[in-house]
Amino acid sequence: MKVISICNQKGGVGKTTVAYHLGWGLYELGHPVLLVDIDPQGNLSASFKKQDSCVALEIFSDEPKLVWDVVLGDSEDTGVSLVSSNIHLAKSETTLSFTSYTKLRKALSRENQRLRKWDYILVDCPPSLGLFTVNALTASDYVVIPSLPYYYSLLGLRDLMEVLESVKEEGLNPELRLLGILINQIDRTIVARNSKDALEERFRELIFDTKIPRSIRVEEAIQNKMPIWQYEAFNPASEAFKKFTEEFLQKVEEVNK
Ligand code: ADP
Ligand code: MG
Repeated sequence: MKVISICNQKGGVGKTTVAYHLGWGLYELGHPVLLVDIDPQGNLSASFKKQDSCVALEIFSDEPKLVWDVVLGDSEDTGVSLVSSNIHLAKSETTLSFTSYTKLRKALSRENQRLRKWDYILVDCPPSLGLFTVNALTASDYVVIPSLPYYYSLLGLRDLMEVLESVKEEGLNPELRLLGILINQIDRTIVARNSKDALEERFRELIFDTKIPRSIRVEEAIQNKMPIWQYEAFNPASEAFKKFTEEFLQKVEEVNK
């Protein structure tokens, strides 16, 4: 069981889209997956479910626990399960004590045999560096950072790296590792290409080889509650998301050696 945070304090960079496609992709390759939505916007939850629940509240209660639903496949041992969120979670962050860093880690306790059924637990983070994100980083083995291919995105990554370092150095989670930066929404304009080069220059060895192209179909696919490769198989983003899933698995294997 490996816990991976999909994290970036900027909104609209593709965290939820990546969590959705990676979760679905791992499932299709035979891995049972748990998705944990700790963004009060609840976008990931809405991409699977119609009904409005917010069981993520249980994570941030006085006695953190994990409540989930199977949202894909026949059972939690083979399918995709989801800890759902919605706007009700927002209040919970403001009432949390500012030292409550370990709620999610407690809920995902390694001693809990029931959690071992999942090969991968993906945490879809909110667009902030607040308590929820720190909870995610404290509970995770790895971090995946989606980023847009623009210069301003580069500036944001520096702040995020500092938070990762402080989570490690302050002893909250010394084992935390950045698995990689995933560049999302590549397009053909020169501006995007130039800033992608700047990004690569600065973070070269941290960037996944796979880049995800921009396509309006990605959003349409999720609205239709399916991954892009089911919605439009020949879209370049379909191939890219599948390649990313494979690269993700390779990287996890490499860093585990
Ligand atoms: P975040 O979770 O970081 O806020 P989202 O995953 O919700 O970001 O993505 C923000 C918006 O961009 C959504 O409307 C999503 O459908 C769209 N989007 C994400 N990735 C792509 C892509 N590769 N091509 C086109 N649209 C995308
Ligand atoms: Mg999101």
